[in-house]
Amino acid sequence: MSSTLPDDGPLLTPEQDQTKIVNDDPLIVQADKRLTDDDAVVRAVEQHRQREGLIETKPPCFLYLPKDPNLARTNDIVYIDKYAHCEHVAALGCFSSNPPGPPRQRCFDLQPVEGKGIGMIATRSIDPGELIYRERPVYSSRRDLLVLADQLENGVFNRAALQRLTPDARNSILQLHNAAPPGYDVVRGILKTNCLEIRITELPDTKPGEEFRGCFPMLSRINHACSPTAHYYFNWKTFQGEIRALHVIIPGEEITIAYTDLCLPARERHTRLKDERFMETCICRICSQPPHLLAESDARRLKIHALLERMLPVDSKEMPGNIPVERFREAMSAAEEEGVVYDFSRLLLFGSQLQTLYGSLNLAKEWVARARKLFRESEGKDGYHYVKLGQAMSIHRQMEASGQGPIGV
Ligand SMILES: [Zn+2]
Repeated sequence: MSSTLPDDGPLLTPEQDQTKIVNDDPLIVQADKRLTDDDAVVRAVEQHRQREGLIETKPPCFLYLPKDPNLARTNDIVYIDKYAHCEHVAALGCFSSNPPGPPRQRCFDLQPVEGKGIGMIATRSIDPGELIYRERPVYSSRRDLLVLADQLENGVFNRAALQRLTPDARNSILQLHNAAPPGYDVVRGILKTNCLEIRITELPDTKPGEEFRGCFPMLSRINHACSPTAHYYFNWKTFQGEIRALHVIIPGEEITIAYTDLCLPARERHTRLKDERFMETCICRICSQPPHLLAESDARRLKIHALLERMLPVDSKEMPGNIPVERFREAMSAAEEEGVVYDFSRLLLFGSQLQTLYGSLNLAKEWVARARKLFRESEGKDGYHYVKLGQAMSIHRQMEASGQGPIGV
């Protein structure tokens, strides 16, 4: 890693440091004191953001939390958001006790992988659905936050967030790989290379689709593949990232996850991986195929994509239009062939919704049961889809008991 960072000590010079402590316990630090101290700056930013259609004007804050709430208060975790949200997160029940840690027996090693740097390699056979690792992000942040231009490009904002972490926590992030080109700020580069998406929908006034990202000491080291062996899921209840096996992983096989939408054609996946994470290319099994086979793979993935694009969220009140069952069967066999297990479970879920509305209740039940088993394997029993599909099953039972046919017919 090309790094110009000090081994320890502050990441900012006193002149760069614009932070201001606004709360002592929990420690909440305003990222940029100019945003409230200087009315002219606030007004200028406000006008600019309103012109751009961005309404939010509140300055971001850094909330620091301890890894172990039973021990002395230490800054092991930083969460970045507006002040009110920081307060809300600090009060979450999951932060008053220790989270369930990673499995006691580790099933992987970090080893060099040709063409990829370091990778996570299975040291024994791992079963589908087995929890491989889980941990809290050391750094987590809402994506769209108000940051003045003089703190962005140079990484001052990110450095300010990491600066008050304990040296161990800070180094667990700063030791991660940096794939950014020369000239790009090192801290910003490390975060962009390593952050994974975090799904938080339960915060007040947070709409579905608002984006969060998190950087993890271990999970961020897992490489990408276009037919991954494992699935990454963010468990909001425990505020932890979790990795589970999507199928049997044999000893010596690499544990991989998806960094991007796998149902896009290879060229588009590569563009996104480069734009979002500086990945020059993908050398996974799928992307290393000869061009004519890659073109066939692309066609299969587009078939899956076309259906999933029309899928509504599980708890949506809207009714999707009907799609012939044959289209689902074709897309499902394409997903099996491509080894995109998570997308396969999404097809089962979407297909079962349409069958409940327009088709066969028996087929809907069969697909729900299969989807639920797969979601339990990829997201665990606390997972959003597993819980929601349990509710779908009880609706099916009620429909059956009352002799009701498909709703939309
Ligand atoms: Zn690939």
